[in-house]
Formats: sequence, C-alpha cells, structure tokens
Amino acid sequence: MIGKIRELLGVDIKEEKYALTDDPLFGKIAKAKKPDRWVKSTCGYCGVGCGLYIGVKDGRATYTKGDPKHPVNIGTLCPKGLSEHQMLYASNRTLRPKIRKNGKLVDVSWDEAFGYTAQKFQEIQERYGKGALAVISTGQLLTEEFYALGKFVQLGLQTNNYDGNTTLCMASAVMGYKQSFGSDGPPGSYEDIAKADVIFVIGANLADNHPIIVHHLMKNRKDKKIVVIDPRRSKTSQLADIYVPIKPRTDLALLNGLAYIIWEQGWYDEAFIKDRTEGWREFVGHIQNYKPGEVAHITGLDTKLLYQLAKLYATSKKSLICWTMGINQSAQGTDTVSAINNLAIMTGKIGKEGCAPFSITGQCNAMGTREFGFTSAIPGYRKFESEKDRQEYADLIGIPIDRIPTRRGYKYSEIIDAIDRGEIKALWVVCTNPLVSFPDQNKLRRALKKLDLLVVQDAFMSDTAQIADVIFAAATWGEKEGTYTNSERRVNKANKAVEPLGDSKSDFDIILELSEHFGLRNLLFAGWKEPRDAFEEIRRISKGRLCDYSGMTYEKIEALGGIQWPCNDKYPQGCTRLYGENMPFEHEDGKARFIAADWKPLEEPVSKAYPVLLNTGRTVEHFHTRTKTGQIAILDNLAPEAWIDINPKDAAKLGVKNYDRVTLKSPRGKVENLVVRVTNLVAPGQVFVPFHYNTQLVNTLTQSLFDPISGEPNYKQTAVQIVSEKCPQGLTLEEEIAGELTMEQEGKAQKRTSTKEGQEA
Ligand code: SF4
Repeated sequence: MIGKIRELLGVDIKEEKYALTDDPLFGKIAKAKKPDRWVKSTCGYCGVGCGLYIGVKDGRATYTKGDPKHPVNIGTLCPKGLSEHQMLYASNRTLRPKIRKNGKLVDVSWDEAFGYTAQKFQEIQERYGKGALAVISTGQLLTEEFYALGKFVQLGLQTNNYDGNTTLCMASAVMGYKQSFGSDGPPGSYEDIAKADVIFVIGANLADNHPIIVHHLMKNRKDKKIVVIDPRRSKTSQLADIYVPIKPRTDLALLNGLAYIIWEQGWYDEAFIKDRTEGWREFVGHIQNYKPGEVAHITGLDTKLLYQLAKLYATSKKSLICWTMGINQSAQGTDTVSAINNLAIMTGKIGKEGCAPFSITGQCNAMGTREFGFTSAIPGYRKFESEKDRQEYADLIGIPIDRIPTRRGYKYSEIIDAIDRGEIKALWVVCTNPLVSFPDQNKLRRALKKLDLLVVQDAFMSDTAQIADVIFAAATWGEKEGTYTNSERRVNKANKAVEPLGDSKSDFDIILELSEHFGLRNLLFAGWKEPRDAFEEIRRISKGRLCDYSGMTYEKIEALGGIQWPCNDKYPQGCTRLYGENMPFEHEDGKARFIAADWKPLEEPVSKAYPVLLNTGRTVEHFHTRTKTGQIAILDNLAPEAWIDINPKDAAKLGVKNYDRVTLKSPRGKVENLVVRVTNLVAPGQVFVPFHYNTQLVNTLTQSLFDPISGEPNYKQTAVQIVSEKCPQGLTLEEEIAGELTMEQEGKAQKRTSTKEGQEA
C-alpha cells in the first residue's frame, strides 16, 4: 500500500517499512519535493484557464498548486492540474530530434533535422506545387507560437492547406458565431455563469471536462435554475434542477421549437429584435415548421416540458446557454450553434450581466489559434476574402499583399482527403495525434501511408510520432513562455519554470530556426528573439479589432490575473462580455442575423445490423489522446482503459454484467475488449465509450461525416452492434425504433400540433 502511494506520488523514498499513520513518510515526501521557488503560470490542459504555481526544486518541477488570487479558479485545480508537473518527466517525452533512417527513427542534430526537412519541403513544393505541403496544428501552443507558425506557413511556405485539431472540437462554435454575429468570439464570461438566474447546459459534461467551471455554475445556487440537456445522464446532469433526456442529435429541432414557443407566446424582445437584428420575418416563417407536437416527436420530449423550458429561458431576467462538444461535434454543429444564438437575440439575452450564448472551449489555447493562428482567418479575425483586410494586415507587418492567401485552404478532413487522392505529399503535424483523435481511423491510416514525408513536432512520442519520418522534439508547458486565451476571452500568462528537457526546444524557437533554413527569418520575424516580440506584434496588429490586445502587456496580464479582450483605451482592464448596448455586432451593418436552419435526421441511423447508438466523450482523469496524461500514474491508475456504459435492459439482453468484456462493431471496424459498466446513465439503445485510448481505439468505428460549414466531425452518433460471449449475434433493434425507421423511410413521419396542455404549461 505504502509502495503504491509512493509510486502514485512519484517520489523516490528509500525506506522499506512504513505504517500508514507514520508522519515521517509524508514528512519526507514533503521535504524531498519542497520547492526552492514558485513560478506563477496557467494550466496547460483545458480551456478553463486556471491560474497556478509551479514549484521548482533543483531545476525540476516538483509541485503544482492553484493560485488563490486567480479569478478563474481561486486556488482550486482539478486532478489534471494538480499533477501537471509530473507530465514534464513522462517516459514518453521526445528528448532529441530524429530522422527515420533504414526504417528506424534515430537521433540527429537539430541542424540535420531542419536541413533535411527544409530540403524535402522545397523539393516537394517545387515538384507538385506549394499546396502539396499541408500543416495540421493544435490548440495547445502559446498564442505567440501560433502566430509565428501561421506566418511561417501561410506567408513563408505559402501553402494555405493549414488547419488545426481545433476543427475537431471548436470549429462549429467559430462558424456559428460568424454566421450570427459576423465574427468569432464567445460573448459571455464565467461571471455570467455565476450570476445567471437560469442556465441551460446543452451537450456539455462540464463536471468531467471543465471541472473548475462547476464552481461558477454552483455560485448563487439557491437563486438559479440549472437545466442540463443531454441524451446521457452525465455527472453534470446530476447537478441539474431539470434534466432533459433528449434523443441524440435532435438539439437543432429542440432549439427551433423553443424559438417557436417563445414567438407564439410573445415572450420575445421586440425592441432588441428591431434595433439590433436582421432576418426576423424570415425566421418567424421558418419556425412555423417546429410546432411543439412535431418537436416533441423528433426529440422524444413532452410538449409540457418544451413550454416549461421556453418560458424559463425567455421570461427569466438573466438566462445563459452554454455548450461544448455535444453541439459542436455534429454534422449540423454550425447551424445548431446559430440556433442557440437565435434564442439569445430574439430575447435580447446577450451583452447583459448573466446573459449569453457561451461556448466552453476544449483545449488550453484553442482560442489563441482562433484569434491569431492564421488558419480559418487572417490574424485579428480578418477575412481572407476581404481585400481591405488583406491590405491592412500586409501594411501592418510590411509584406506584399500577394503573399496573403485570398481564401482559406483545405480544412483538416479535406487535407486527409487530398493526401488520399495523392494531391498533398508532405504533412507537418504539430502537437496533435490524429492516429487516435481523427474519425474513421482505417481511412486515415490508408491515406497517411501515401505521404512522401511526415514531420511530427511534439513533446511526446505520440502514436503519430511513431510513424513519422522526422521528429522535432518540442518543449512543453512549464518549459516555455507566452499567453493562453481561455473560454471567456481571458488572456493568461504561462511562464517558463524549468529548462526544456533533453535537447527539446520551444515551438517558438523551432519555427524561427526552421524559417532560417528557407531564408525567411528576416522577412517574417525580423528582430524577434523571444515570445514577447511576437506578443508586441500581436498588440499592434489587433488594435481596433474585436480581439484587441493593444491595451495589454505581459506585466499587466500577470497583475490582473488575466485580461479579457478587447483590452484598449475604451476597456483598459478588459471587457467582461461582448455586444452590450454600446458594442455593435460584427456584421457590416452592426446587426446580428437570425439563421433559419432545418434539423435533419441522422445520416447513419440505427439499423437491424447496427441497432445501438454510440456516443463518445471524455473522462476527468485524461486529456485527449493521453499523450500528456497516460504516463501520470495517479491519473492513469484511476482510468487505465476504456469502458462501455450499457443500460441494464441491454445488458440483460446481452447476458453481460459489470466487468465483463464486449466487442463493438460498426460498418467501418471493430473494437474489442471493452469493460462493461452497467448503468442507467445511458438510455436503452445507447452506449457511451471514452475516446482517449489507443488500445481500444473507438475512432475505428466513427464516421467520415463532417459539418459542411465548419468541417467538424460528427463524432457523437455512430450506429454500432455490441456482441458478447453469451450473445454473439448481438442486440436486435427495438420494435418501437424499427417502426419509426420504417415510417421515416416511407416519408410518413408523424406530424403533431401543439397541445392545449402544452400551451398551459
Ligand atoms: Fe487545468 Fe482545466 Fe483542470 Fe483547470 S479545469 S486545472 S485548466 S485541466
């Protein structure tokens, strides 16, 4: 037992005999790890953006503790944050650059790695065109690194086939905001979550995935109503006053239906609609197709509940809707985000205390790449298509305008398709691990085999790094300096506490040094020596933009515990929420748009062969594909492998109980050896599996199905079959569902009208 505790704490104490109550053990541990100094920083895992201190002893990080003065977390951290220092010494760190020679990855000097890569990139671009090189990055670099990488790729290497893994998680929120408000940028803040009277949490398991936000959710608890809308009874649903067990991917129908009821009952804000929006008349026409009876049929919810939800949202003074991947990771993600925005603008619940449509961001700096990463926009939320924006940016940084692309290149999934077609020959992957995270793994793996060159830049020997031709050994959190922007637009400072391990280098240094091998350093990064130089350029190029950093400095960010943009002469301390009375929307006329979008049934519904819907997601102990958390004993021992949640009714039919093993199959592949957890947290006909694990690779099953606007994958609803030893033929389709399918196939879906009972609710 003591040995286990020692192992979990990661401390090398030599004594053999202990009793649990022996203070000396813990005294020795504390002494062995007691830091010489504490370095203030920000957590590098998720988009909550908790402030923390890194304890350093003898040049090694030995502790992490929450910053009691930081407004996001007031001293608290989740299990990942608390053990973050251990990540630095994981056995899967990449310590030196490598090149594959005779089939094996061997250590080389940085000069050789850079020289070889530069030569190969140039050869491929000369032979096949600039676009034959593609780059896929991440949401985990520092903003200064994103900015340097974007400039290098778009302006230097001149390929616009550049995207990030953020397209796998946040792209629908980005595009939904753009459709509705004219720009990306989450309007709300955690203060609004704390102060709202009513909060709808849709498709978001905050308790597992953004645990510290739950502190804000629970503030003023007795005065607020929490509504959780999710097909799964997640941990978050257990905090709710009202849990809404919606049928999978029917949220767009629900949101249109709530809009209908709000219109029908006259609960909308006429003055706000008139002064600050466009498209109301068309929208009212559109929602006539979403009468409560029809919506009840689609969503599986009672009409009385629909009226209750609409009334609660529209008639409460402060109402906020937050969401994450349940909304975004959908073939209708962008339109569903806009449907949330529709509710906010028809009721005027935006730009006021406790009111907002509010996406909660996944990775620590997914926001940073959205602001300045140069993937889906020119830095500072400028549009590729706008000559004015291109000219303005070109003038600001002193480059010819014709170096700036006039349109966005391929999105992530389009890059994979282009590799499969043989159009893209070289891929540079930065700090992401598609061999676990991308859907339809068999298709992905077939495509990657066709590459002439795969370069992986990562701090960890990820699954993808293992098949690379070149590895750039990157430094990680705690070893480098810069800023992260969290979900509420708060720019936080992350600081260097220790030197990069081995010969690894910060991503910032890798990009600048590689640019020298192309003769591009002076053109793109003249005078840059450290991240602060990039930050100063960001301040300059963002002045006057929505994501305005011009009023920030590193010192001010640290002093204030982060600053929410825009920060400028008008908002010297930052801005808590967007689109208040004096802040127009970002469309040219300053008005928000109603978006009329129709709900569509699942592209791959359950069938006799695949009668169960698989939902995937995360668990609090792990981050993404476990490259960062898989080697941290205290986290990995808590969740060492993937499991499957099965409803008791389905478990009985399969003849399985807790800890049995089952196999999941979809039309694309199978995953074996999943541990069964029998639970009512999932409904009959639905199962849940976490996606983190490369050993039980659930993305073997998921579809190549993407939102047509954002390019985000539809991860959440995959038709599967479960087989067990006792039930090798698997489950049969529920009669009721089979009946519904037949009706829909025949185009005879029931139409129902709103009931008197519903209207009276
Ligand atoms: Fe880090 Fe997110 Fe946990 Fe905060 S909630 S400690 S930011 S992982």
